[in-house]
Amino acid sequence: TLQIIYGQDLITLDVLFGALQSALERELYNLTEWQDYGVQIMPRLEILAVNFQVLFVGGLIDGDFPRASVKDIFFGDEVRSAMGLVASEELLGQDRFLFYELLDSPAERVFLTFPKYRDEEALVPSSFLADLKDVAQVTELNPKENDPLFTNRQTLWEDFGQNIFFLTTGDRLQKAMHQADLLFTLLEKPRKTLEDLLHRIQFASLRIMGQQFTRFEGNLTGNAAITDDLQQRFKHRVWSVSQLETYGFCPMQFFLRYVLKIRPTEKIEEEITPLERGSLVHKILYRFYSELLAAGQANRPLEFRERLFAIAREEFDRMPYEGLFWELEKLRYFGNEQAQGIFDVFLIKEQARLDKLQAQPSFFELAFGYSGNFPMDVHSQKQPVIIRQNGKEIRLQGRIDRVDVLPDGGAMIIDYKTGLVHSKVTDIVDGIHFQLPLYLYVLPKLNRDLFPVYGGLYQLKSADTLDLKPIIADKNNAYLQLLKARSMAFVPNKTVLRNGNEDDPFEFDDLLEYSVQQAFEKTEALRQGYFLHSNFPDDRRCSSFCDYRRICQKVTGKLKKGREKEPEGDDS
Ligand code: SF4
Repeated sequence: TLQIIYGQDLITLDVLFGALQSALERELYNLTEWQDYGVQIMPRLEILAVNFQVLFVGGLIDGDFPRASVKDIFFGDEVRSAMGLVASEELLGQDRFLFYELLDSPAERVFLTFPKYRDEEALVPSSFLADLKDVAQVTELNPKENDPLFTNRQTLWEDFGQNIFFLTTGDRLQKAMHQADLLFTLLEKPRKTLEDLLHRIQFASLRIMGQQFTRFEGNLTGNAAITDDLQQRFKHRVWSVSQLETYGFCPMQFFLRYVLKIRPTEKIEEEITPLERGSLVHKILYRFYSELLAAGQANRPLEFRERLFAIAREEFDRMPYEGLFWELEKLRYFGNEQAQGIFDVFLIKEQARLDKLQAQPSFFELAFGYSGNFPMDVHSQKQPVIIRQNGKEIRLQGRIDRVDVLPDGGAMIIDYKTGLVHSKVTDIVDGIHFQLPLYLYVLPKLNRDLFPVYGGLYQLKSADTLDLKPIIADKNNAYLQLLKARSMAFVPNKTVLRNGNEDDPFEFDDLLEYSVQQAFEKTEALRQGYFLHSNFPDDRRCSSFCDYRRICQKVTGKLKKGREKEPEGDDS
């Protein structure tokens, strides 16, 4: 075959080796005849060909024997068998039959064995063993405690650890010494292994029992090489609010994502992704309102329902999806005779709000510091906005979905969300929501005629729950008072306080300033090497939705205890 493929061309040893390897992988080699004496080690099926005196059947763990059956989500067993594929039920049947045949062999004694561990993973014994106990008399043999025949590395380490722990009692010292001797004989690189083990014990103890947050929990402040690198790397960074929010919520998550650049593997989605849905809705509303603005009708959206639907249909038709779920997705937005969809409810609520406030939708997708080709407002600027404070600066990029202007020049920033909105004004105080306060803060730098009064998130997830949720608003603005809102997002109020002090409620402008100050503090802490785990370990964004939760080593109790404390230096 190689001759046919390569002719007279020279091939490297690697190519030859690769070709041999893949050829061998496809071949099955069977001994034509097994001897009937001595100890034979053979695959389960082959056992049936020989008559043994004593038979050991090993490796009886669930998933191996019986094999794990993977449920086919597309075809039932009947269809699979018509297609010549093994049905999941059949797989189990085959293994059951083989097990029966093994037990039925003429061997005088049959030993069934299973390992309890594979490295550190505990294994589950085969379900056949429990079934067998139900129908036959089985003698169970368990290794005696400390029986050297059954000692393995795992138990040796465990016993060694136990003896060290109780070193002051009885003959523990001698036992530990003996086990250490054994371990040193067994291990290939005993010193290295022991060192690794001691280090791991040290990391774990410091993480779990230590009072401070050490370098094992993201406190890298003591490592000059790292902090120098961070200073350089983040000195002239152009920040986005989502990066600031990531650091605010969990510095460790920021470290994994933006410093180490560890990303979860992309899944291939067969349905529309949340990201695509968000960008689809943004595009539709951008086109709709831009057209209305050009026609001088931006405050009359309800009268242009047909136009919104036409634009939406065009954009939906551009998406590469079809089938039942895609039809359901469309139904959610367009509705039908029985139920209103998101677009209809949106238009009705929009019109009511615009009429009440006499607000004028004025800017759409107002971007700063961006170079992408996403459609954006003509007033967008390529340069990031620079915020300065005490000789330091933050360069910020962003895109404001929409700005509505009140008759007094007050600006309402509105951001569309196609998922559920969880943010609240206290998130600004906690330093985990930056988007609206920072956008409001920089808005006058983009347009001097505007002054900020309101930031809200439009929840466009379903027709039932559709709502514009205020996150931060100026209670003293005369037009906003027309909303008669009771939300604590309208500041000042008795809940949103500086340092929890009832006599010091945040004024609207104070809260924007406070958020800017938080942004400076976060970026400074980051450059100094603070990458601790989240202060909000019970929040579902940490416990359920974080991409890194499977590799995360947070110690929840310690985080909760240390929440109010400033992180201390790492003296470990
Ligand atoms: S699981 Fe929680 S603590 Fe760990 S990286 Fe994610 S957000 Fe941070």
